[in-house]
Amino acid sequence: MLGILKRDPIDRLKKAIGKEKVNTSIVERKLYSYDATPIPIERAVPSAVIFPESREDVIKIVEVCYEEKIPMFPRGAGSGLTGGAVPTSERGVVISFERMNRFKIDIDNATAFVEPGVVTYDFQQEVEKYGLFYPPDPSSFKYSTIGGNIAENAGGPRCLKYGVTREYVLGIEAVIKDGKTIKTGNPILKDVAGYDITKLFVGSEGTLGLLTSAILKLIPKPPARATALAIFDSLEKVGTAVTKILTSGIFPSALEFMDRDAIRAVEDFKPVGLPKDAEALLLIEVDGTSSSVKDQINQVRDLLENLGVQVKVSENEDQAQKLWTARKNLGPALGNLKTGKINEDIVFPRSYLSEALPKLREIARKYDLLMVVFGHIGDGNLHVNFLYDKANREEEERAEKAVDEVFELALSYHGSITGEHGVGLTKRKFLRWQFGDVGYEILKGIKRLFDPENLFNPGKVVEL
Ligand SMILES: Cc1cc2nc3c(=O)[nH]c(=O)nc-3n(C[C@H](O)[C@H](O)[C@H](O)COP(=O)(O)OP(=O)(O)OC[C@H]3O[C@@H](n4cnc5c(N)ncnc54)[C@H](O)[C@@H]3O)c2cc1C
Repeated sequence: MLGILKRDPIDRLKKAIGKEKVNTSIVERKLYSYDATPIPIERAVPSAVIFPESREDVIKIVEVCYEEKIPMFPRGAGSGLTGGAVPTSERGVVISFERMNRFKIDIDNATAFVEPGVVTYDFQQEVEKYGLFYPPDPSSFKYSTIGGNIAENAGGPRCLKYGVTREYVLGIEAVIKDGKTIKTGNPILKDVAGYDITKLFVGSEGTLGLLTSAILKLIPKPPARATALAIFDSLEKVGTAVTKILTSGIFPSALEFMDRDAIRAVEDFKPVGLPKDAEALLLIEVDGTSSSVKDQINQVRDLLENLGVQVKVSENEDQAQKLWTARKNLGPALGNLKTGKINEDIVFPRSYLSEALPKLREIARKYDLLMVVFGHIGDGNLHVNFLYDKANREEEERAEKAVDEVFELALSYHGSITGEHGVGLTKRKFLRWQFGDVGYEILKGIKRLFDPENLFNPGKVVEL
C-alpha cells in the first residue's frame, strides 16, 4: 500500500468530479501537508489535493477512495495544533473544504445551515446583523472553519458561559464508508430520537467521515459587555478568586488567566500596558444589557478587592478590546521567547486549580524549563506551554518528559488531556491513559463502524 498513487485512481477522481478540482502539482501537495502544529510530527506529501464544491462531489470522492482504498485527510483551514489535518500517507489525498463555504440563516428558527468551509468569523459577522449570536470563539476564529471547529469541538473564552461548539450543533450531514450519506438532526432544539450521532461527530477529528454540512443553533446577541483586569501578587489567590466570582450569582462571559511569563511575553510582543511585575492576572468579561453589565462588573470588582486583589475596569470598548487582543496575541507572542514550543491544553476540575497551578510550576522547575501558562481558567482549561531551543535536542527531550507529567497531573485530578485542541497525532498515546483499555476498545469499535477500511484520517485519535 506504500508509495504515491498511480495515475489510474487519480484519473478516476478527476473524471468523477472534474479535473479542475483535483490538484497534483508538487507545490500544492507540499503546501497542504502542514497544519499549525508547532512540534515535529509524522507527515507525508499527499498524492493530490482535492477541492470538492458540493455534497455530491464529496460522495463521488469517497466512493472512489473507498473502492481504491485511498486514505482521505479532510482539511479546513489547517489551523489545528495536534496534526489533525496533516496527511500521514503519500498514497493519501487531502480533501480541502475551502470551496464549500455557503451558509443560510433561518432567522425565525434561530438556526443556520452551514457548509464546512465557512470561516467562523465571516459567519459570526453575518449572524450578528440579525441580532443573533454564534458564540464559539477559538482564538483562530478569523481563519478557522466551521468544519474544523466541529471536527475539533473548538472552544474559546466565551465558552465558559455559552458552551463549546458541541452545544450549537443541532445536526450534521456526513459522507461515511462507501460514499453513504448520514444525516442527523433538524433545525429544532429538542430531539431525543435514538443515539446522539450528531454529538458523536462533534470532536471526531475527521476520523468517522467527511462533514458536508451542519445545522447550527443561534441565540440572541447580548447587547452590551464590560471588561475588568484583576492583578494578582500570588498564584494561590487565583483559584479562590475564580470560585468567589462563580459563586457570586454573576456568570462571566469570559474568565481568562495569564501567568507572570505570559504577561511578560505579550507585553514584549505588542505592549498594552499590562503590569509586568504581577504574578498573574485575570481578564473578566460580563455581558447583558448596558445597565446590568455595569452592575455586574462593579460587583466583581468589589468582591475581588475584598480579597486584596487590584482591579481595573475598562472605561470603554477600545480599552477592553486592547486587553482581549493582548490575550489573543499570546500564541504568536510565545514564538518570540524560544524557537520551540509544546503547547498543551489540559483541563482540571476548577476546585483543584489552587493546588494544580503551583504543581505545574514544580514540573517546570524539575525539568529546568521555561513554562508559560494561560487559558480559560473559568472552565479549568489551561494552556501549558513548555518553551525550548529547537537546536537543543536534550532540552526538547526534557520538555517532552515534562509534558508526560503534566498529563499525569491532569488525570490524577480527574481532568482531561485536552479541552480544545483534540488528540490528532500528538496525543494518541495519552488517550489510552484517559480512557483505559475498555473505553479505548469502544472508541475503536465506533471508528470501525463508520470506517471499516480505516480510510478517514487514518492514524489520528485512535490507532486500530
Ligand atoms: C493561533 C491559534 C489559536 C488557536 N486557538 C484555539 C482556541 O482558542 N480554541 C480552540 O479550540 N482551538 C484553537 N486553535 C486550534 C484550531 O484553530 C482549531 O482546532 C480549529 O477548530 C481548527 O479549524 P480548521 O478549520 O483550521 O481545521 P483543520 O486544522 O484544517 O482541521 C482540524 C480537524 O478537522 C478535520 N476536518 C476539517 N474539516 C472537516 C470536514 N469537513 N469533515 C471532517 N473532518 C474535517 C481535520 O481532518 C482535522 O482533524 C488555535 C490555533 C491557532 C493556530
